[in-house]
Amino acid sequence: MELNPYDVAKKQLDIVAKEINLDPNILERLKHCQRILTVSIPIIMDDGSLRIYEGHRVHHLTIRGPGKGGIRYSNEVNISEIKALAMWMTWKTSLLKLPLGGAKGGIKVDTKKLSRGEIERLTRRFTVEIINFIGPDKDIPAPDMNTDSQTMAWIMDVYSMHKGITTPGVVTGKPVEIGGSLGRTRATGTGLFYIAEAICKKLALNLSNMTIVIQGFGKVGSVIAEELFNIGCKIIAIADLSTGLYSEDGINVKELIQWKNDSKDYEELKEYQNNSVKIIPNSEIFKIKCDILIPAATENQITRENANDIDCKIILEGANGPTTPDADEILKKKGIIAVPDILANSGGVLVSYFEYVQDINAYFWDLERINKELKRVLLKTFEEVYNLSQERKVTLRMAAYILAVSGVAEAIKLRGHYP
Ligand code: NAD
Repeated sequence: MELNPYDVAKKQLDIVAKEINLDPNILERLKHCQRILTVSIPIIMDDGSLRIYEGHRVHHLTIRGPGKGGIRYSNEVNISEIKALAMWMTWKTSLLKLPLGGAKGGIKVDTKKLSRGEIERLTRRFTVEIINFIGPDKDIPAPDMNTDSQTMAWIMDVYSMHKGITTPGVVTGKPVEIGGSLGRTRATGTGLFYIAEAICKKLALNLSNMTIVIQGFGKVGSVIAEELFNIGCKIIAIADLSTGLYSEDGINVKELIQWKNDSKDYEELKEYQNNSVKIIPNSEIFKIKCDILIPAATENQITRENANDIDCKIILEGANGPTTPDADEILKKKGIIAVPDILANSGGVLVSYFEYVQDINAYFWDLERINKELKRVLLKTFEEVYNLSQERKVTLRMAAYILAVSGVAEAIKLRGHYP
């Protein structure tokens, strides 16, 4: 069954609203996105033909500060997905108490079918179409699925050319040479690692002895895989869109990453040849018994259809919205602890915030300071969520949502409903 991501996001909000007895007027406001922009992006392809792509940028809520959220390129992009992702960014920035709101954007496109030049033209024209929607004081995009620091460099360049002034603060996740932050590329994976250590400590588990299964081997999945491999965890399975890799003795993640970096045209794991790993269908990934399962691909992956198959102690959500509310209920009954996306993967937006602060001040921090601050804020937030979940006897997701939604509700109360 096809799940509508925005319905899922609204259902999560309804559940927490009931738990905290949220003012119905505020609930109604939170269920609606503040601004939605859908644009057509005409591109002259390399063969001279014209093709039109559809793109979106959504501000779910900017009441606590400028919008913040990634831009994703994928054939699955649709307005419901982008609205859901924008809403989740509102909760994530509030949970971390960052002076930012929730936004997201994306283009419906299969980038594998486009040349680099076509992707560049697509990005540049998309930027022009949304130029009045974004800006350091309005909304600050960042990389997400199938976009990276180069994408951000193109966006920054177009924005700066149109405004007549170099504006690094319009995007985060830029290359360091043009105002990016050290540590941003690995921040989401590094943050996941800190959270994995923290939850294992609470549960008196030894993280380095754990077996791990990861869905997604991109910017998030590959970094957390490497961090865990480095401390001795056995990464027994990894899947991407093309296939799954399995090894009972553990995949050599260092070798796999080396292969990925060396492959000039790296696209997918299905091209990986190694006698020590078995190829499995990627749909099997959630059936493999392990200690920690890390969904780091996309939303709506753990649903009521497959939640019963899951056999692990902890789910660490690297992706945004990987677990549906129905699946959450099943996991709870099974005693599986889900560390929610808005906490677990928030290292990315946190270092994006550091990048934004560094750009505004035109003063750049060293990597030691970045990682120290990342760890400090994440662990403080983890403690708040964990303690609340113990006090109220609720899941970590519920505790994180209570803190996040209450923070936004308070901001709305203080500012009032204009006019
Ligand atoms: P990416 O494009 O770098 O990698 C995505 C990976 O997921 C690829 O390996 C792809 O093949 C795989 N994938 C996609 N759909 C799949 C499916 N249906 N089944 C199996 N594998 C699938 O993207 P990313 O930046 O690593 O983002 C992954 C997730 O993490 C997204 O949900 C994103 O919103 C979230 N996230 C990213 C960041 C960040 O800093 N990049 C921060 C927070 C959250």
